[in-house]
Amino acid sequence: MEGALTARDRVGIQDFVLLDTHTSENAFLDNLKKRFNEDLIYTYIGTLLVSVNPYKQLDIYSKKQMDIYMGVNFFELPPHIYALADNAYHTMLAEANNHFILISGESGAGKTEASKKILQYYAVSCPSVSPMDRVRDRMLLSNPVLEAFGNAKTLKNDNSSRFGKYMDIQFDIQGEAVGGHILSYLLEKSRVVHQNQGERNFHIFYQLVEGGEEDLLRQLGLESNSQHYSYLVKGQCANMTSVNDQNDWRTVRNALSSIEFDNGDIQDLFGVIASVLHLGNVQFESDNKGNAKLNNSAELRWLLGVSVQVLQEGLTYRKIEANTDEVLSPFTVDYATYARDALAKAIYGRAFTWLVNKINESMENKDLSRKTVIGLLDIYGFEVFYVNSFEQFCINYCNEKLQQLFIQLTLKSEQEEYEAEGIGWEPVQFFNNKIICDLVEEKHRGIISLLDEECLRPGEATDLTFLERLEEKMGSHPHFVTHKLADKTTRKTLERGDFRLLHYAGEVTYCVVGFLDKNNDLLYRNIKDVMRESKNAIVRECFASMESDNRRRPETVASQFKSSLVGLTDILMSKEPWYVRCLKSNESKQPGRFDDSLVLHQVKYLGLTEHLRVRRAGFAYRRRYEVFLQRYKPLCPATWPHWKGLPADGVEVLVRHLGYQPDEYKMGRTKIFIRHPRTLFATEDAFEI
Ligand code: ATP
Ligand code: MG
Repeated sequence: MEGALTARDRVGIQDFVLLDTHTSENAFLDNLKKRFNEDLIYTYIGTLLVSVNPYKQLDIYSKKQMDIYMGVNFFELPPHIYALADNAYHTMLAEANNHFILISGESGAGKTEASKKILQYYAVSCPSVSPMDRVRDRMLLSNPVLEAFGNAKTLKNDNSSRFGKYMDIQFDIQGEAVGGHILSYLLEKSRVVHQNQGERNFHIFYQLVEGGEEDLLRQLGLESNSQHYSYLVKGQCANMTSVNDQNDWRTVRNALSSIEFDNGDIQDLFGVIASVLHLGNVQFESDNKGNAKLNNSAELRWLLGVSVQVLQEGLTYRKIEANTDEVLSPFTVDYATYARDALAKAIYGRAFTWLVNKINESMENKDLSRKTVIGLLDIYGFEVFYVNSFEQFCINYCNEKLQQLFIQLTLKSEQEEYEAEGIGWEPVQFFNNKIICDLVEEKHRGIISLLDEECLRPGEATDLTFLERLEEKMGSHPHFVTHKLADKTTRKTLERGDFRLLHYAGEVTYCVVGFLDKNNDLLYRNIKDVMRESKNAIVRECFASMESDNRRRPETVASQFKSSLVGLTDILMSKEPWYVRCLKSNESKQPGRFDDSLVLHQVKYLGLTEHLRVRRAGFAYRRRYEVFLQRYKPLCPATWPHWKGLPADGVEVLVRHLGYQPDEYKMGRTKIFIRHPRTLFATEDAFEI
């Protein structure tokens, strides 16, 4: 019928690889939008899943939906996060190897939601033969707990992850989820003491204060009103409509009890949270010599079971070793305030690490039988605010690294492999962000190295001398802009004190104020000694373990972060990758709104159309001849049970027998390349006939 819309016109194509017109960015966008308008938020590029945040609840995550996707071939059903989870799972079981799912996208794009859906899928749908339900429950319950302690409202996202999370889900050979392990990355501790306008502290503070039972609050000396606490009101939005702190409190409280936290642990954990709040209310005033003294020591009474006298001293004096003597040097009010905030950050940061370890203990599987894993990576997304500081620098650097990994694994190594295997190939051009990663992390020359060098010159170096060093060394780098060059390059002026990086996902102007301090993350020794005396077991444990050698200079925050990201890359590189690329549909968190230019920008910087071009021209599946032959030789009389010749020849005989058409596959030097996954699915199905 002329003029009538076909289903395809209306709902678009579910796999971009089949988009027959062309692979332009506009065609890509058009297809995404058509689908989004029909509430179809998922689309494939081969086996990669693109997800567009709908900002509304869709009825697609029920148990019934999970059942539909379990064990069904990837392309037989509409795209879904469950299909990707299921495909990774079945491939892991069939090939007995390890996998990971990289979930990426900018802040608010839907990474954490996606990772929760995947975990739920495994917890609910995988077979359950042994009484391991408790481990599975704990894996699920770890989510609300870690979100309470590690997520917060930012201007970009009401539930923004302020730490990076990598979780291994371990499966036994029957495919049952039997254990879990979490690695956490750099928590944004500065949020404990300061929040920008319109942002909040970590959820747990508001949950405890607004939702905590009367008895508990009384024990902790807390008022049930977040307005009372100076650490909770810096962003002037303690109460917000999209979050129900009281309900969330109950969820977290129940989850903690179920994850093997005994009452003592729970009591101590809330003792830590309460102490941070009390600490924030401690104020100093100047005595007649200009030294800091406490003006309301009442708050100290509640602090961490440490003697008021000792703590008071720890907050207003610094112990200096002079030859064999120890001298107490008094703080000014500013310094005392700084020491107070440093202590609050340290306590919270260490308690968070303690929490992750505790959760890991409860998810640990002590059975030594062989297991394979699926790793789930959900980190803080790329973010740009009006003012960007050291935290954004670290977060955006982390996103550069993950984009680099994606490029390495898809665009780069894929094309290199075709070349190495002698498969005819027309190279696809793409932007390689390695240049930006190097700018940040290169030894002796990168921004982190220069920052660390400045941190080694206490007393002389300042944030501004760091900036001068940067300008001196990086001035001509194509991705670095100083205020001196700003007009020439981007025509946007920069304030003195700012530098700008041209990231893969856009330009970000960083304000250097606080860089040195946050990178050093110093805590005076006498205050650490005080913490070791605490009656609170968590605090004692957190401060006891690390500082055995006081003389050794601790690694800086940025360097530690850099090493942990190298470690993460190694973990991921040893596994088979799956990708979920999350896109933000609009900036105002509105249901159903699709902002063309915002989505197009993300499509571009995520390299989705380049990925599509490589996928369309390339091969979805490849295996070494030996592996392929071993698995499928029962399907052909000539190869079963033994093939005497070269594996490549055996594979040729095998696929001819199976009726593969010449354009469906290519024979490389060491591997067979298969264009569409459906060819392979048909081969798998042949086992069942
Ligand atoms: P960040 O980098 O800041 O942690 P993120 O990518 O993890 O961001 P999420 O917290 O997953 O973002 O998503 C932000 C919000 O978007 C969610 O709180 C939810 O309201 C909405 N959202 C995301 N994905 C979905 C979905 N699949 N269905 C419905 N709403 C969603
Ligand atoms: Mg998140």
